[in-house]
Amino acid sequence: MDKGIDPRDHCRDAASWLKLIRRHLKRQGADRFRDGFQFREISFAEMGSLHGQVPPLFAADIPLELLESIGRLVEGRVLSYDEIRSFWEQGDVENPIPLRDLLQICALAGKLEIKPGIASLLDDYRVCSRCGERHQLERIHCPLCGRPSCAVCLACRSLGEVRSCRELYYGRVWEEPDIRKVYPDLRPQLHFQLSRAQAEAAAEFKRYVERWLGYYCGAERQGDDLPENTPQGHTSWGGEKAGGKGAGESLGFAQPWNSWAAAACGQAAAEGSANSCLVWAVCGAGKTEIAFEGLALAVGAGLKAVFAVPRRDVVVEVAERAQAAFPQISVTALYSGAEHPKSLGQLVVATTHQLIRFSGYFDLAILDEADAFPYAGSAVLHRALGRAVKPCGLKVYMTATPVPAMIQAARRGKVHLITVPVRHHGYPVPVPQVILCRQHLVPKQRRDSTARGGYRGRFSDLNLPPQFWLKLKESLAAGSRVFVFVPRIWLVEAVAGEIRGCPELAGVPVFAAHSRNPKRDRHRELFQKTAPSVMVATSILERGITVPKADVIVAYAHDDLYDARALIQMAGRSGRDASYPTGKVYFIAAAETKAIRWAVECLQEINEDARRRGLLVPGTQGEHCCTRAIGNVIV
Ligand SMILES: [Zn+2]
Ligand SMILES: [Zn+2]
Repeated sequence: MDKGIDPRDHCRDAASWLKLIRRHLKRQGADRFRDGFQFREISFAEMGSLHGQVPPLFAADIPLELLESIGRLVEGRVLSYDEIRSFWEQGDVENPIPLRDLLQICALAGKLEIKPGIASLLDDYRVCSRCGERHQLERIHCPLCGRPSCAVCLACRSLGEVRSCRELYYGRVWEEPDIRKVYPDLRPQLHFQLSRAQAEAAAEFKRYVERWLGYYCGAERQGDDLPENTPQGHTSWGGEKAGGKGAGESLGFAQPWNSWAAAACGQAAAEGSANSCLVWAVCGAGKTEIAFEGLALAVGAGLKAVFAVPRRDVVVEVAERAQAAFPQISVTALYSGAEHPKSLGQLVVATTHQLIRFSGYFDLAILDEADAFPYAGSAVLHRALGRAVKPCGLKVYMTATPVPAMIQAARRGKVHLITVPVRHHGYPVPVPQVILCRQHLVPKQRRDSTARGGYRGRFSDLNLPPQFWLKLKESLAAGSRVFVFVPRIWLVEAVAGEIRGCPELAGVPVFAAHSRNPKRDRHRELFQKTAPSVMVATSILERGITVPKADVIVAYAHDDLYDARALIQMAGRSGRDASYPTGKVYFIAAAETKAIRWAVECLQEINEDARRRGLLVPGTQGEHCCTRAIGNVIV
């Protein structure tokens, strides 16, 4: 053979590498993984048939650019083979070598780790390598590997299937601080004026990020000085290529970030709230722009940031706003169904689920609507956020209604708290008036209850009290749009039918929105355009809708389905518009529950905070804040 290489050497090397890979996989509990995984072993016969060509297993013969582009593709990501292949095919890199071979070579060179999709550490103990799920794993008869009990993860199936016999690729992050793209004078370009409350919060957030950057970059430099953290041959492709020793080291999975991160964590722990922050802003206060100043500092220092939002439509909108604010950096929008970008920008705007595909990639993560579906209550997404951000990276939670645990953490100093207690127009948030009526119970759904029930006097089957009709008529007479929230889907049509049937409200358009109504977007549009009008809805509308001049009636507010956060969100639909900043909110309930009390007290506390800080428009303080009495009307 040319280059003076004896084919026997290749085989010896290959055998020892394969032994190392096997040992590593076995250590991870992936003993059975071998069945489904195809190692590329090269026999003597195959070597002979190559007619002098060097087998493609060896990095020495593979163009460096190919390996670099694979490295860039998987950096900081957790991807299945199919995902990598589809992303790879979208790029126009010429590749004569089988992709699996390339990935194996990258693994040997320490650019990525290969893990079984579902690791079985013990016989009955399996963990999904992508989302960390332990319980929602289903055993199936697998057509791919032929085994009768191949495990499939149900928790992260929406992102593509993960199973025992398929591998996952964990791309490592190997960046050096001095080759980062730095923008020293990056400032957001906003096309409007921040309100005083927003500007104060933005300045405080900026100071906080500045302090965090001090720890973070300081720790990073410390790590840089430690020689054992940057093993030779791994920091760049240009250096020593993966040889026998390099491969052994890379399979030992040294974590370059961990040691300096530990130093930073020690310092951070002393400070308490050094790397997590809660931005608590009232509904409609404009949270996104508050983060931009601080974000500019981090991105300007060359760090990578992600802005995670719950819904796909919001991703596109926030990405556009961020790109307009930072024209000089590249902003990437990631959501399911979007085309995969060739490379990720310094700022990524993504749905929360996309975080599952990242590992130690981001320095800063901002989680918008941290209390909302899907993040709230999802252990999978909690873990995903923890893993997507580097150790000691900054996590920022933004919400209008933080869970009590979050507030407690803030009070104990574990989380840095920034509040925005007032909307841009400077009026206090409307505090709900609680109307108690013992007969106002959630009715039982009757089989014969038609969608268009007629108006049947004072107390119909729906137990709507006279106070409900009175408040509804008052608001409509004043020319307002009225949200009527109900806790069940069937109640939406029933209550809407009842309102339509009321002779005194003839001619007022009544819309209905719930998750099973296909016309709900159309109804929402019409409602925004027509005044006066009524929108009967389930909590589907509780977030993300801004309607000018709106009042809110929450019927059956005592229902178990309504927690304090849902009540606050529903109340938050009112008084958002500057032309009608003092909306009216009524909670109609059979009894005053803990959730109702908590919601009312919370809103009063927010207004009190705004008053103390002098953020309210003069003349509005007394009306809403100084009285703590709740107007209870017992019917
Ligand atoms: Zn999973
Ligand atoms: Zn299988």
